[in-house]
Amino acid sequence: MTGSWQEILAAGMSGMGRPLDADQISCFALFVDELKRWNKRINLTAITSDREIVVKHLLDSLTLTSILPSTGRLLDIGSGGGFPAIPLAIVLPGLSITSVDAVGKKITFQRHIGRLLSLTNLTAIHARAETLADSDPGGFDWIVSRAFSSIPLFARLALPVLKQDGTIVAMKGRDGEQEAAAAESELAEMGLRVDRVNTLHLPGDNATRTLVLIRKDGKGRPS
Ligand code: SAM
Repeated sequence: MTGSWQEILAAGMSGMGRPLDADQISCFALFVDELKRWNKRINLTAITSDREIVVKHLLDSLTLTSILPSTGRLLDIGSGGGFPAIPLAIVLPGLSITSVDAVGKKITFQRHIGRLLSLTNLTAIHARAETLADSDPGGFDWIVSRAFSSIPLFARLALPVLKQDGTIVAMKGRDGEQEAAAAESELAEMGLRVDRVNTLHLPGDNATRTLVLIRKDGKGRPS
């Protein structure tokens, strides 16, 4: 895919059936500028070119829009520089997003972006995921992570704050299907099961990505 990074982002989102409006493109432009500026001082990402940021961070994060509803509560565990939490907050303003990371400087950056872009649906919390049940026992409809941990470890951290009908989504690469199969018995011990694995191609890169959807045992597929 060629063109400016804005064109790559717009084409990628149109291809996913979620065309962006001009305000959202402006938000992403500010986010990319600030990510590069802050990255000189704190380690937010190893990726530094605009094109790679758009494809490997923004469009990759936004593959989740293929399965997410427009409302409800979503938790992103180990969100680092804000992926996937911040792109989702820009594109899905009706979704209430809580973003958690153990590194305070990364959360300071995310809060800065939230204020700059007026993302009133984004709450960034500096905490270890292990402590979340104490601060937010209400529960989340969706709990996601990208580049965070093995599927069983992620599920173990997510389970205490997952609503009864909620869904855990591990964002994985091309080996997601095998990782999901290998995790089945550990998930079963937690009363969880792999509901489905969605395979997709990352726009602008054609790399394979998988979304591993995990639910409490005995519960049907999300609508
Ligand atoms: N999700 C982001 C992404 O895809 O770019 C960041 C991935 S980074 C490899 C993993 C992040 O998880 C780091 O920012 C780290 O601080 C955070 N992390 C690791 N263990 C954690 C824990 N127990 N609770 C909260 N955050 C944690």
